[in-house]
Amino acid sequence: MKALIVTRHGGAEVIEAQERPLPEPGPGEVRVRVTHVGLNHLDVWVRRGVPGHPFPLPLIPGSDIVGVREDTGERVAIAPATWCGSCARCDEGRQDLCRRYSIRGEGQDGGCCEAVVVKEGALLPIGDLPPERAAALPLSLLTAWHLLATRAGVRPGQRVLVQGGAGGVGSLAIQVARVLGARVVASASTSEKRALCVQLGAEAAFTYDDVVKGTKGWSGDGVDVVIDSSGAATWKDSLRVLRWGGTYATCGATAGHAVELDLRALFFKQLTLVGGTMGGPAEMRIAWDAVRCGAIVPVVDRVLPMDKIGEAHAAIEGREVAGKVVLES
Ligand SMILES: [Zn+2]
Repeated sequence: MKALIVTRHGGAEVIEAQERPLPEPGPGEVRVRVTHVGLNHLDVWVRRGVPGHPFPLPLIPGSDIVGVREDTGERVAIAPATWCGSCARCDEGRQDLCRRYSIRGEGQDGGCCEAVVVKEGALLPIGDLPPERAAALPLSLLTAWHLLATRAGVRPGQRVLVQGGAGGVGSLAIQVARVLGARVVASASTSEKRALCVQLGAEAAFTYDDVVKGTKGWSGDGVDVVIDSSGAATWKDSLRVLRWGGTYATCGATAGHAVELDLRALFFKQLTLVGGTMGGPAEMRIAWDAVRCGAIVPVVDRVLPMDKIGEAHAAIEGREVAGKVVLES
């Protein structure tokens, strides 16, 4: 079969089309013909490389896979990670902390190819959801759900700021916060992106320059939770808008990973800092139910043919996109 391969770290030219053997399903496994792959910022990290973090190159990229089951013809999405299933962490239902937790397209081959073989338990039925929209969901949705529901413990009536509310995770974080009963505001760079945040359920959306003033004006004494995946660029403002006892929750550092922390703010304001990455199968099922009942809507910026993956990466790196870029085979 034809597959896209990240051959080494570098620019878009390191992704090459190559031939690979068609994978054969074993017991309890299903072969899925890939029709759509949603891209994430993770795809850019895998291609560029991250100092101190080894990736198993050469690698087929693509974490969010949608296709057709060969055995039944049903359209399905595929849960974006695997784990060992037999360690203490897996036994206690915290598969996200399993030392063998592995994301498709990062720690193992992903979906930018003609077909993949997965365990039957990894399949997520998509029903009537258009496949290109289903491909915009699994990884970002799981990340947003785990961070808000499990790590930050967002409760009904709480006030939440989503920094970068038009991004892949941000656009879902706004909706997850609403599903959990919270009130939401967001930040975004352009007026189109801010309009999207409001359309997704934010009560207001601010520029990055106005986010502190706007959020304080909206909330009075600050927000209970800030969700931030851009890191250093927004860190100071994110802490500034938290009310006493508030929680800063991060799931990424796309705009810088090293920050300065004044510990006095942490203890005087009794703040909590939490991090989250991905999540477990129970969270994936619960979040997927919210999609299937229409409470969470995926945002697709554009759909490109699979061989335009370089163009897709450039759009993500140039921060041109609102929502997700999806590749179609
Ligand atoms: Zn395990």
